[in-house]
This record gives sequence, structure tokens and C-alpha cells, in this order.
Amino acid sequence: MLKVNEELCIGCGICEESCPFGAIEIENGCAVIGESCNLCGACIETCEVEALTLEVERTAKLDTDDWSGILVYCEYRQGELAPVSLELLGIGRALADKRKVKLSAVLIGYETGEVGEELIGYGADIVYRVDHEALGVFTDENYCAVLTDLIKEHKPEIVLAGATAIGRSFIPGVATTLNAGLTADCTQLEIREEDGALLQTRPAFGGNVMATIVCESSRPQMSTVRPKVMKALEFDGERKGEIVDIVPSPAQLKSRVKVLEIVVEEAANVNIQEADILVSGGRGLESAKGFELIRQLADMIDARVSASRAVVDAGWIPYPHQVGQTGKTVAPQLYIACGISGAVQHAAGMQSAETIVAINRDKNAPIFDIADYGIVGDLFEIIPRLMSKIEERR
Ligand SMILES: Cc1cc2nc3c(=O)[nH]c(=O)nc-3n(C[C@H](O)[C@H](O)[C@H](O)COP(=O)(O)OP(=O)(O)OC[C@H]3O[C@@H](n4cnc5c(N)ncnc54)[C@H](O)[C@@H]3O)c2cc1C
Repeated sequence: MLKVNEELCIGCGICEESCPFGAIEIENGCAVIGESCNLCGACIETCEVEALTLEVERTAKLDTDDWSGILVYCEYRQGELAPVSLELLGIGRALADKRKVKLSAVLIGYETGEVGEELIGYGADIVYRVDHEALGVFTDENYCAVLTDLIKEHKPEIVLAGATAIGRSFIPGVATTLNAGLTADCTQLEIREEDGALLQTRPAFGGNVMATIVCESSRPQMSTVRPKVMKALEFDGERKGEIVDIVPSPAQLKSRVKVLEIVVEEAANVNIQEADILVSGGRGLESAKGFELIRQLADMIDARVSASRAVVDAGWIPYPHQVGQTGKTVAPQLYIACGISGAVQHAAGMQSAETIVAINRDKNAPIFDIADYGIVGDLFEIIPRLMSKIEERR
């Protein structure tokens, strides 16, 4: 809290003027701090007599030994399990084996059928299944309450979730309620040998550096991971595990949000992450019209169309097609980059493609550093020639 040393304060009023929230008033020649103070500390620097101090209240030190196990939130929505859930079980299994602890999965939804058993086949030891009609439609409040209470009860040392629209929506609320940290969009997760802490690595500063974040003294250690970054294990129908059915309490189902209708936006339905082949267009296409050529090539080879951020920002193609750090991470068998320079932020989303073909008229474009095959030339000449060769071969 912000404290005023009444002996030092001279009531000059400089702090009153400097407070962006109008939280300080001078009364009887001394500063008085009001309730709207948000501890920003702006006043402290302005006080010439050093009468203001910020005292950080330390919460009791958490005993991290009380927390054990890895817990993965497995996203299930309208009859489908999000593929990222299986990828998280893959990395979760590796972390759990390293820590010699159990891997649990949390399945929240309605009419989840055999999905619980499926999660065991993909690596979970325990599945906490919360199957209830009121959870058939996602709402932040209900999902947050159910997952938070489960974490409080079972105290896992690590909680993983997908950085999907749903994960990004409610996982920060879970972390805040638990007073835990949350590292979003991790690309690598490892256990530190010395103390078993989770090393959470993610791109920072526009993707130019990789930062490793460690939450040493708070639990659980929470991370979200984007789809397609981790690898799912092979399904093993022989694996044994336990399914624990949980009935949500009325207090957990008190969402103030009522979902009246779900409308699937056509553009949002583009799933470039599941495609085996992607033909991707960048600013080299010159205009939205350039995508006609990209679509023709894509149709010919049964591919989907993706794009760089530059062309999404220009409005040539909608956002769901964007590949990269602020778009989607993809790992197709074949990625054909047409008129894309290969900036680090773009490469971050596609460099794990099995084969990368780049078409660019600048032989020094960075995309050629990561491409398996590079064609230097004008895409408006190369792509039609490529298409006629494909036609010929057929
Ligand atoms: C925080 C942050 C996040 C970002 N996130 C993303 C992201 O998620 N995804 C992303 O893609 N970018 C992202 N960016 C932007 C990124 O830095 C680049 O600006 C962007 O990727 C460039 O797109 P581009 O390659 O299409 O365009 P340019 O860099 O302009 O490249 C166009 C290329 O086309 C070539 N070319 C031009 N005409 C032709 C032709 N006729 N034939 C052949 N080649 C031709 C040029 O030689 C050039 O190499 C991000 C940037 C920041 C700062």
C-alpha cells in the first residue's frame, strides 16, 4: 500500500497534481490517499521530501511441495475434441514422466461420449470428466469456475491449455483467480533438472528473441501452447487409466451470459492447420486479385490457401488464413510460399513444414534460408508455368 510519512509531508500538493487517478488530496497540510489509488507509484517520484513510500504486502510463502502432477485442459466443443488437446497430452506425458508424477486431463462439455477413454489412449493417467448440459456451450464464467475448483482440489504443479480462442478467453481468468502466473503461446516446455521447475519458452520482442520464463515460487505453473507446436503421441488402446466423473455444483454454473445462438463465420471456418498442402501468398501478389492465381494452383493440387500478415493487414484475404507469430502455426507436408519475404514472424508459423518451396524474385529474400527448394523469379510467370507442368504430368 501507499504510505504517507506525516512527519516528512509538507502538504505542497505536487503529489495531488501528479496522480493520474485523482486519488490524493491534501487535508490539514498533509497528503491523504483515497480508495482510487492503484499503486502506480507516479506520485513517489514527484515527492521532493520523500514522504511517500510503496509497501508491497508479501503473501505467505507458498509450499510448492504441496503441488504435484501435470494437468491438461482438453478442449471439447460441439462434439469435437480440439486436436491441440492431444498435442498437450503428448508434451504433458513427457513432463510427467520426467517429474515421475501423474498426468491428468480435464474434459468439460456435454455428451462427451468416448472422449474420456480416448484421452487415456493418448497418454492421460486420470481424466476428470465434467459432462453436463449446462456446459454444452462454452461460457467463460462456468468453465473458469469448474477448472479453477478442480485445480484447487487436486493441486497440480503444472497446468497446460491450448492457445485457442477458448483457451485464450478463459485460462487467464483461471490463472488470476488462483493468483498464479501464466505464460502464453509457449513453443517449448522443459523441466529444470535442479529443482523440477517448468521452463516455459516463448518468442518475445516481436519474435526476435526467445524468452524462458520460470515461476519459481507460485503454483500452479500455467502455460498455453498454440496448436501444432507440440506432437501428439500415437494412440494406444491398451493404455489403462481412470475416469473420474464430476458433477458440477450449482455455484459453478451461475454464468451471467446466456448464449442465444452460435453462428459460424464462414471465414473463421478456414482450417489451414489441418491442411497437408498450403499455397501461401504474400505482398508479392501485388493485390487481392493476385490470390486468384494462388487459388487456381491450390485447387489443382488439393491444397488450401494461406497468407502472410502483410496481405491480411492489407485486406486482401481474411485473418483466419494468416500464418505466423500472430496468425496460425502450421506444419503441412508441403508449404509453397509465393511472394513472401520470410520475415522471422512469418517463419515462426511455418518453418516446421516438412518441405518448403519458395517463389520470390529477390534471390536474397530470407525465405530462401529456410526453403528446401527455391525458385528465383516472377511469381506471375512461375506459377502459370508450374500449373501447366502439373497439367502435363497428369
Ligand atoms: C509483432 C509482429 C508480429 C507479426 N506477425 C506476423 C505473422 O503472424 N505473420 C506474418 O506473415 N507476418 C507477421 N509480421 C509481419 C512481418 O514482420 C512481415 O512484415 C510480413 O511477414 C511481410 O509479409 P510479406 O512477406 O508478404 O511482405 P514483404 O516483406 O513485403 O515481402 C514481399 C516479397 O515478395 C517478393 N516479390 C514481390 N513481387 C514479386 C513477384 N512478382 N514475384 C515473386 N516475388 C515477388 C519480394 O521480393 C518480397 O520478398 C509481424 C510483425 C510484427 C512486428
